[in-house]
Parts: sequence; structure tokens; C-alpha cells
Amino acid sequence: MKSVYLKEPNDIKIKQIDKPVFKEGYALIRIKSFGICGSDIGAFRGVNPIVSYPRIIGHELAGIVEEIGENQAGLKKGDRVVIDPYLWCGKCYPCSLGRTNCCETLKCLGVHVDGGMTEYLLHPAHMLVPLSESIPWELAPLSEPLTISIHGIHRANVKAGQRIAINGAGTIGLLAALASMAYGAEPILVDPVEERLNNARKLGVKHTVCIPAQNAAERIREITNGRMAEVVMEASGSNQAIRSCLDMVSYAGKIVLTGWPKNETTLPTNIITTKELDVLGGRNSKNEFGEALELIDSGKVNVRAVLSKLINIDDVPDAVRELSEYPERYLKIVALTD
Ligand SMILES: [Zn+2]
Ligand SMILES: [Zn+2]
Repeated sequence: MKSVYLKEPNDIKIKQIDKPVFKEGYALIRIKSFGICGSDIGAFRGVNPIVSYPRIIGHELAGIVEEIGENQAGLKKGDRVVIDPYLWCGKCYPCSLGRTNCCETLKCLGVHVDGGMTEYLLHPAHMLVPLSESIPWELAPLSEPLTISIHGIHRANVKAGQRIAINGAGTIGLLAALASMAYGAEPILVDPVEERLNNARKLGVKHTVCIPAQNAAERIREITNGRMAEVVMEASGSNQAIRSCLDMVSYAGKIVLTGWPKNETTLPTNIITTKELDVLGGRNSKNEFGEALELIDSGKVNVRAVLSKLINIDDVPDAVRELSEYPERYLKIVALTD
């Protein structure tokens, strides 16, 4: 079968490998579609220190159950599913709390272990989520980044009527803005790329701030009548943006850090004390695929808006090279296996 294979950084190709063999407790999935994620690009560029090589990449996956044991997660051969790609141990302290997304030995597909940019994938049966017929294959993989966005929203306990300022209008930030509107909150999206913000406004995001031409804190002060944003979500990974969260957030507010900075950020922690902020991490997702699929299916979150391009698996190596060179060119590229 075909796989998208990273021999080492900057060396990507389609490689023929053996189809996995079914084993009990697992399901053999015929992969139908997958998304290319920023973390796949990071793996390609060799800038993500937790990726080991060689590696088959891909963790935004949807497919059809080809083989599964009896009484496994209520699924049977022929069922459509999306893959929950974060493998957790079930024994460590965070797992004991049900916070499996920050398992001490978490293994993410395509990062720590081989991923699913393949024609077939063997995956634990309990890590599959049923996918309704009404969600087309090209949209199903977008449920994965949407779970990351809604996990951030859940961490900050976003409520109707709150203003949520979001740093970064890439896939995660834009989906967080759309999902927060489904929660009745009012997003304020901050990004340096005007085109992304125009796109967001077309999707109903009322407030956008184009930095550095506009001052984010000043604009948020106007929009919120001086209060500032009750919640700030950091979805860019930029050190400057992380620092700016402290100026964008209200007193008694919450900051959720979802982006992955490459370098350490220096912060004036006296602002955290003065405003008595809750500063939260937001990593991966846990049991949030069901809600993400529901938001997609009901049309409350228009994930098609982040789908920039649809390609075939054979074109993925070229697409990864292009995304690596021009990250601003697309939001999400999804590939079909046939
Ligand atoms: Zn992803
Ligand atoms: Zn664990």
C-alpha cells in the first residue's frame, strides 16, 4: 500500500509498504481522507524535536472499518469513522484524572509513532469515532483540528456573551472563532494577514484586528468598552503574541495557550498577579470528537471554510514541500486516497 514517508527531514516521498495485519482489540481501517497539519510540516522541516525518523506522517484521518473484532466500540465492518490519534497509557496521573490528552507518555500518530497518511491503518478499536453519512470524506479530517479548538474553549470555560480574543487566524484560530460563536461568545480575531481576516469576516466573525498596523489591546479596549477580553486564546505560537495576551485579557480573565512556540517567552508575571489571571495550557483534545462532528454536521461550524485545496495522496509530497515554503498560501489541504 501507499504511504507518505519521511525518511529524514526534507526527504518526503510516496513509499510502498506492507498493509498492516489485523489484531484483536484493534480495527483495520481503509483510510479515505486525511488532512495535512502544521505539525506534519514541522516534521518535514525537522523543527519539531519530538518527531523521530523515519516516520509516516498524518493524524487527521477518516476511513472505513475493514476488519474489527466482535463487540468493539459498537462498530462493524463497513462503518465510517474518524480516528482519535492521541494514544494514551491509562496508568499515569493525568490519565487517572481522565485528562488523557496530556498523558505523560502520550504518543501522537505521525509524531511519536507512524501516522495514517496510508491506504490502511491499524488503530485501537476504542479510539474510533463513528462518522455520519452526512459528513463528506473531504470534511471529516477537519474534525481533528476542530477538537483542538474546542478543547481550548472548554479549558477556558467560554460562556455565551463573553468576548474571546484569539491570536492567530490559521486553522486552529479560525475554527476556534467559529466554534466560540456556536457557544454564543463573541470572537475578536487577531492576525497579521489581512486576507485571512477578510475570510473570517465573510464567515461572520464581526471583530478582526490586523497587527501590527492596528494595536490589538487598543482595539479590544474599544470593542469591550474598556473591560478587555474575558478569555484570550493563543493559537499562533509567536512569542510576541503570547506576551500580548497579558495586555488583551480582562482582570479576572483567562488565557489559554494552544500554540506551540519554538523559543522561550519572557513574561511580566506581575500582570498575572495584578489581574489575577488563570493561565491555562490547551493541548490536543480528549473525548471531543463527538462534539466536533456534531458541530460540523449541524452546520454550526462551517469547516469547509478552512478547506483550501483537495488533492490525491500521490500529490501529498509536493503539497508538503509547497506548504513548507509558503505556509500562508493555504489553510487546510485535504487528500483523498482514491
Ligand atoms: Zn493536526
Ligand atoms: Zn497516561
